[in-house]
Amino acid sequence: MREKYSKEFINQRKKSWYFTYGLIAILIVIVFVVSFRRPPDYVVKDEISLGTHVRVVVSSKYSGKILDSIFREFRRIDSKFNPYNPNSKIYRINHSNGNWVEVDDEILFILKKSLYYADLTGGAFDFTLGRLIKLWGFDSENSEKRIPSSDEINETLKHIGYDKVEIDGNKVRLHDGVWLDFGAIVKGYAIDRAVQIAKKIDPKATGFVDAGGDIGIIGPKFGGADWIVGIRNPRGESQQDTIGVIYLKEGAVATSGDYERFFISNGKRYYHIFNPKTGYPAKGVISATVVANSCLDADALATAIFNLGIEYSLTYIPRYGGQAFIVDENQKIHKTKGFLYFEQVH
Ligand code: AMP
Ligand code: MG
Repeated sequence: MREKYSKEFINQRKKSWYFTYGLIAILIVIVFVVSFRRPPDYVVKDEISLGTHVRVVVSSKYSGKILDSIFREFRRIDSKFNPYNPNSKIYRINHSNGNWVEVDDEILFILKKSLYYADLTGGAFDFTLGRLIKLWGFDSENSEKRIPSSDEINETLKHIGYDKVEIDGNKVRLHDGVWLDFGAIVKGYAIDRAVQIAKKIDPKATGFVDAGGDIGIIGPKFGGADWIVGIRNPRGESQQDTIGVIYLKEGAVATSGDYERFFISNGKRYYHIFNPKTGYPAKGVISATVVANSCLDADALATAIFNLGIEYSLTYIPRYGGQAFIVDENQKIHKTKGFLYFEQVH
């Protein structure tokens, strides 16, 4: 009796030892795998496109293909949408002398999005400023920038207004000689396309696309962490001088600033975002950052804030699907309530 009991006891002991050894072995394997699994390598590529510095940071088995496809897409969008390049589609629409022009689905998409934002913001965002942009010399880096006379501005204002754009099916007609300029929205669109392309090639890809500070997230850092995006100090010496940070795992952020394209005359700064009612650069805001799901939306809203004003923007930008960080002309910072969420690690 006694012996039988001891054998059982010994077997029991043996089993529990095997179990413990097994558990230790599994734990050692887990610790080994976790500590020796290298974080994915990120590949970085830079190019100038859409008049700005574009950087793509990506980690994927197909990084090379993703980078090539994204930069090809940027070049394609740049040459199609630059309204001041005689070879672009938009240039041809602008010079169609008030006739109906057939447009493709992509142009129709951008047109409709732009009309939506023009309507939503009561014209604070207006994509028909082409002639005004050219008048001031902001159509190209190489154009001479100057303050036009008030007569020239008043004359140009006659050729501005999103109500002068007529759409019928896939045809568009521009009245009163307006010129389209999608400069405030197309960079965001290109970033959205780039993110879509990366995800389509490799749904597991992670990284981000940065075009002059406008950013679209491909996927979280190392597959799970936030990317930290700095908000540039609009009066800082360099891009590295920041006045805020945003933590993002997905979605997009866009910033518009009076430091991006400007000239100084008699100590006064004249820059590239205009008040469509006056024909002069917008007043009161020097930088606007918007976080939104898509970069196209963030881009359009960031530009609109310059003409919407601070109080209005703080109330309405969240209703339009964005959260905003705004710097006024006295360099005071204003944030929408929901912006706080993006200032924390998740
Ligand atoms: P962003 O850098 O996104 O703010 O876009 C600025 C560009 O949008 C300018 O270079 C112009 O081409 C165009 N733009 C300027 N003012 C406006 C405006 N009020 N609404 C829409 N587009 C504008
Ligand atoms: Mg914009």
